[in-house]
Amino acid sequence: MSDTRALGVLQRVFGYESFRGDQQAIVQQVIDGGDALVLMPTGGGKSLCYQIPSLVREGTGIVVSPLIALMQDQVDALTELGVRAAFLNSTQEWRVARDVEQAFLAGELDLLYVAPERLLTDRCLQLLERGNIALFAIDEAHCVSQWGHDFRPEYLGLSMLHERWPDVPRIALTATATAETRTEIAQRLSLTDAHHFVSSFDRPNIRYRIVEKNEVRKQLLDMIRTEHEGESGVVYALSRARVEETAEFLCNQGIDAMPYHAGLSPQVRAANQARFLREDGVVMVATIAFGMGIDKPDVRFVAHIDLPKSVEGYYQETGRAGRDGLPATAWLAYGLQDVVQQRRMIDESPGDDAYRRRLGQQLDAMLGLCETVECRRVRLLAYFGQHITACGNCDVCLDPPQAWDGTVAAQKVLSAVYRLWKERGQRYGAGHIIDILRGKVTDRTKQHGHETLSVFGVGEDLSDTAWRGVLRQLLAQGLLTVDNEGYGTLALTEGSRAVLKGERQLMLRRESEKKARSGKTGGS
Ligand code: ADP
Repeated sequence: MSDTRALGVLQRVFGYESFRGDQQAIVQQVIDGGDALVLMPTGGGKSLCYQIPSLVREGTGIVVSPLIALMQDQVDALTELGVRAAFLNSTQEWRVARDVEQAFLAGELDLLYVAPERLLTDRCLQLLERGNIALFAIDEAHCVSQWGHDFRPEYLGLSMLHERWPDVPRIALTATATAETRTEIAQRLSLTDAHHFVSSFDRPNIRYRIVEKNEVRKQLLDMIRTEHEGESGVVYALSRARVEETAEFLCNQGIDAMPYHAGLSPQVRAANQARFLREDGVVMVATIAFGMGIDKPDVRFVAHIDLPKSVEGYYQETGRAGRDGLPATAWLAYGLQDVVQQRRMIDESPGDDAYRRRLGQQLDAMLGLCETVECRRVRLLAYFGQHITACGNCDVCLDPPQAWDGTVAAQKVLSAVYRLWKERGQRYGAGHIIDILRGKVTDRTKQHGHETLSVFGVGEDLSDTAWRGVLRQLLAQGLLTVDNEGYGTLALTEGSRAVLKGERQLMLRRESEKKARSGKTGGS
């Protein structure tokens, strides 16, 4: 019977014909008073999963969301549909908040959005005690995971909802989660009895491409000009400085680009975000501070000019492209320097060994995706526990890279690193190692007499670019590492020995000729 009520609300209030994917089962579970943990990709339609039960069940649906900046928009959109919705957060005048509280107590609200820090105040908890609650929805539930980059300590406090309101159904939702994070969410939010709804994470309309980084700004500009001129897109970079300089560069080249990062004032951020959402053809250059909860259907590309720190982060960021289902591009430029830099950042990061190990594993998975000779989508979805066949819509499927026997090349690199360390007690970064292998006489080789090393000039057969590819893959596979002195100098690892001694053959990846030309592959 509740089925027809839910469908009725979907059609009458929201104007949609039918439910999508798991929506109906999820809605039913919550209407019937059960808990749910919902994993659905961005754009999958999570909001209806708690909005409809809030309308069908008696009382008000309390939606916990960290996205204060979006609450107004969400409430406006619902109000337009005739849904009685409101929010409580710190940006509000007290008079307005008081009116909202009164409306809630009078049973005049279908949905009430609350920021987690607000919800956990005594005042708010007491308010909720006095009203009638239909359900609790915990949006962006991955914020409870201490390992993720969106961790919000307030989320840890939300487990008490269950103790205080044991009979009120709870639904936790996220677009980001491996099996591991899912378990963590269930544990930390005391959702042990919740039914898990895991949707397909495939986004077939997104074409994934990972190119070798060379002159990254120029590569980015080429990609935008040749494939997405005048279209909306997001460019992710790791630091504020890179965001600023890239936005400026694109503007100078006639692209309508704007910066977004946590160092900008809230007013500038809000204004830039509003322009991006409302206008066509704006490119947002941003740190990962931008995007959670952004609902813009026609983002045609998401570009990463720095290597993301994890596959989860990458997947979630790229998931902001093509939410309308039309073709979209996820483009990532990645090079040797990214690996060096990120390994170093992990070494220097605060936290204990377990934490660093976890970061290391996340990076390894990301590197595995970058260096794969298998379909990108197969790799990506396998990470989320889903198995598919080759997609035909990623760079590897469309233009397969070649594999070549890099054993000898790897031995040359590793023995250069070994000799410099053993014979001279010296460690160097990738650039100097490559100079030595290629027999290039520089100030530094002269100063240290490196021309006399037996490895000097043994690698003249490969180009600079090719050597960078070899070093990058050795680093990615953990056969070479960045030592922890913090200068990006290279050292051998446990695994290096087997390669050096010829006990292990090493197949490496080389971009196809076509891609190398169009990607203007060079160093990194
Ligand atoms: P998410 O929160 O999972 O990223 P949203 O809830 O914002 O996704 O939904 C994404 C888009 O899909 C919205 O524009 C929404 O109106 C639309 N949508 C959701 N469910 C349906 C449905 N059953 N039929 C048609 N459109 C839907």
